[in-house]
Amino acid sequence: MTKIYFLRYPKETSSQPVIYHLIQRYEVEFNILKADIRPQRDGIMVVELKGQKEKVTDSLDYLKSLGVQAERLAGKVHRDENKCYQCGACTGICPVAALYIQRPGMEVIFDPEKCTACGLCVPVCPVRSMEISFDPMSDTTALA
Ligand code: SF4
Ligand code: SF4
Repeated sequence: MTKIYFLRYPKETSSQPVIYHLIQRYEVEFNILKADIRPQRDGIMVVELKGQKEKVTDSLDYLKSLGVQAERLAGKVHRDENKCYQCGACTGICPVAALYIQRPGMEVIFDPEKCTACGLCVPVCPVRSMEISFDPMSDTTALA
C-alpha cells in the first residue's frame, strides 16, 4: 500500500536518524515530498510510505514511540494550464496514464479522475506546472 502522511517532529527527535532506522527496520519505501527539519527545533515532513500494510503500521508505531505525530493526508494534484507548454516530459512517468499524449493533435492531457496523487510528475515538470496539495483525511481514526 502507498499512503501519504504529515509528520510533526518534536525538537528532541529532529537531529536523530529516524528515517534511516525506519527504512532499515521495517522495509518500507520512504519518499519525502516536503520537509522542514532543523536541529533543536520542531520539524515537519510530508512523506509517502510504501510497503506491506503491517510494515507501514509498525513503522507508524515506531514513529509514535519517538514522539513523532503522524496524520494521514489526501493528496490533490492540479495542473497550472498557464505554465504548461506541452513538452510531454511528465507523460512517461505517470504510472496510471493520467497524463498522456492525445493523437493526432499531440496535446498533453491531464485526467484528474485517474490521478492517484502519487506526486511523481511534480519534480519532472520543468516549469512546475504540476502542483500537489494535501488535506487531512476526513476519517482520522484509521492511520494506516
Ligand atoms: S500525481 Fe502521479 S498519478 Fe497523478 S498525474 Fe502525476 S504521476 Fe500521474
Ligand atoms: S512536464 Fe509540465 S510543461 Fe511538460 S507537458 Fe507535463 S505539465 Fe506540461
